[in-house]
Amino acid sequence: MSDRYFENHYTDYNGETYLTSNNQLIPEIYSNVTHWIEHYIRKLERHIDTIDRSDGSVYTGSAGIALLYLHLAILFPSEKDNYKSKAKMLIDSALQQVNGKRISFLTGDPGPLAIAAVIYNDLNDERMVNKCIDKIISMKDDAASDSKPDEFLYGRTGYLYSLIFVRRKIRSDIIDNRIVTEVFESIIKSGEKYANETRSRSPLMYQWHDKEYMGAAHGVSGIIYLLLNVAQDDLCSNLRPYVQSHLLPTIEFLTTKRLPSGNYLSSSDSTTDRLVQWCHGATGFVFLFVRTYETTGNRSYLDLATTAGDVVWQRGLLRKGYGLCHGIAGNAYVFLDLYRATNNTKWLHRAIKFSEHCLDYGKHDISRTPDHPYSLFEGLSGTIYFMADIMNPKHARFPTLI
Ligand SMILES: [Zn+2]
Repeated sequence: MSDRYFENHYTDYNGETYLTSNNQLIPEIYSNVTHWIEHYIRKLERHIDTIDRSDGSVYTGSAGIALLYLHLAILFPSEKDNYKSKAKMLIDSALQQVNGKRISFLTGDPGPLAIAAVIYNDLNDERMVNKCIDKIISMKDDAASDSKPDEFLYGRTGYLYSLIFVRRKIRSDIIDNRIVTEVFESIIKSGEKYANETRSRSPLMYQWHDKEYMGAAHGVSGIIYLLLNVAQDDLCSNLRPYVQSHLLPTIEFLTTKRLPSGNYLSSSDSTTDRLVQWCHGATGFVFLFVRTYETTGNRSYLDLATTAGDVVWQRGLLRKGYGLCHGIAGNAYVFLDLYRATNNTKWLHRAIKFSEHCLDYGKHDISRTPDHPYSLFEGLSGTIYFMADIMNPKHARFPTLI
């Protein structure tokens, strides 16, 4: 028995049908998930006044719960007005905490500002949209400076994501391409510099707090995932040459970080094979390899993604709980990503089995209660986000993937 995860006793795919002819989940699963979501949204709402208003972040604070409500407003049109007003109330609270100290989407100001821009754009409040966007742009020099880290959770990759988020959710010209290019190239230059200094075999290498992390939150796979997406964007054709010159060779290097089990090293000096979660290990690599396959058409990347996906199936029912960052919901998104990329029902089956585990929320012997039990990345809001997405599996995406 592992102290990190529950044995997966679910049977694997055996030809089951999960979708009706109009791509709806079959009624039995649909009604179970709907009841679960209704129950836990009520629970979230009962506790919303108790969340720490001094934390406005997306990761653990009110902006993350606002992002959940925005998502629910799209997925459940009959409750649209109610969910939108909740999102606005939460984001107004998050804006009170903006202080210019941190640069990333998940833990800094750009996340709440970007989500606020989307909410106020929906309300046709151009003055507020411009105010939020100007504030994000005013942080650009700080984000691109050498003093800041590169990784996604705290660093400039998380800043770059904020720019892309508002471009996708509001309109593409809201952020000038020169700003995107400058930040993108600052991440490339930083990775080149560190790779040269350490004589890495990879053209790009990164560290965070003196450790070469590999995973999605602090490490190379998360950085390269976003750079690959941005360089493939039609609006950023000037960045496309980096795909061949820097990004694909770095991805090739990352394939050498595979452990005998099929999991991936959490950092270059790690010797253990322990973590299978979004922030560290195989989970983030699935998202990277799926996107690399979609970019190149090279099926060897899809094979890498499915092998890593098998590891998540075996070891992904984490005892840490049901959240996104290091929990079961984050791991389950791997299966939805593979389902979207392959159209193979085996992956939908696996996502549904993980959602069955989440139906018994709180009833398993989890190793610890998260510090922020209602938050998007550590707590209940992330699980609700996933359970809502399973009802619309072809369009599901882990919240900060593009
Ligand atoms: Zn984590």
